[in-house]
Amino acid sequence: MNAERSIPVLYLVIPCYNEEEVLPETTKRLTEKLHTMMRSGQIDHESRILFVDDGSHDATWALISEYSAAIPYVDGVKLAHNRGHQNALLAGLMTAMPLCDCAISMDADLQDDTDAVDRFVEKYMEGCDVVYGVRNKRDKDTFFKRTTAEGFYKFMKLLGVDVVFNHADYRLMSRRALEGLSEYKEVNLFLRGIVPLIGFRSDYVYYDRAERFAGESKYPLKKMISFALDGITSFSVKPLKLISNLGILISILSVFGLLYALISYFCGVAVAGWTAIVSSIWLLGGLQMLCLGVVGGYIGKIYSEVKQRPRYLIETHIKEKKEATDKEA
Ligand code: UDP
Ligand code: MG
Repeated sequence: MNAERSIPVLYLVIPCYNEEEVLPETTKRLTEKLHTMMRSGQIDHESRILFVDDGSHDATWALISEYSAAIPYVDGVKLAHNRGHQNALLAGLMTAMPLCDCAISMDADLQDDTDAVDRFVEKYMEGCDVVYGVRNKRDKDTFFKRTTAEGFYKFMKLLGVDVVFNHADYRLMSRRALEGLSEYKEVNLFLRGIVPLIGFRSDYVYYDRAERFAGESKYPLKKMISFALDGITSFSVKPLKLISNLGILISILSVFGLLYALISYFCGVAVAGWTAIVSSIWLLGGLQMLCLGVVGGYIGKIYSEVKQRPRYLIETHIKEKKEATDKEA
């Protein structure tokens, strides 16, 4: 055990978007967990569950407010509007940073095994600043999700991006790792790509991922694809290099094509032109469009980054509000 580390104030940061169906059970399980860990002296009594309402349209915020009033370990932050999972997570982590020694981010739907929290804290006590939750197997996923996810991780590795295989956003970060994270100002957030860049000592906790406890996934296919593309283009410019190489290859091939056409012309062989011309126009046209799209994607990112718009705005933080009213009283 690291002698320098004292019992930590732990914050569990949970982003929630329209999670009214799961919140009662999630709150019950997590408060029980925190309570047990506090009693056994694993975590400090100042530890909290911090729910982040990411602009939900259902009763999520009403429930968070109710639980915060009734349960001393529950706190809540409400974002001004829906900013997406990654921004909501960042908002929670940045709110927790000055209040905690370490924070664990997890999903609201109980897919991340709450029983594994102890093991994250043990690793923290051993001196780790980042602990990644890694899924043992993906048998709870559909065949489609499993193969696309595996393909994505492999593609990222191929591009030279350091991502932890089968790790989503279930992870512990110490306060200094959070401070490191706060230095990354990018608007297009892909936390599982940024966190390995921060460094510090890290380790893994393996867990079995459960099925969503209730409600529907808030990550439809469209969001999933845009998240994956965001991950790729935020961390690698290799696609740009790849399309230049493709351009060079096609140029070389077209020289051979030209030679072939000239030789056929001079030898007086009738050119069976139409098919070749039409197919090459379509092929090259398509490729050019694709390449333009990739370049355009990067330009779009530069556009959103240079504007430096805020990644989230906090409407209410319950604990802060409570402290202010306590002072007034
Ligand atoms: N989430 C969020 N904002 C969004 C979408 C999702 O805060 O715009 C939260 C959601 O409430 C959940 C977590 O992100 O706690 C992961 O979402 P979900 O479980 O729906 O994704 P899946 O597990 O299906 O990939
Ligand atoms: Mg989920």
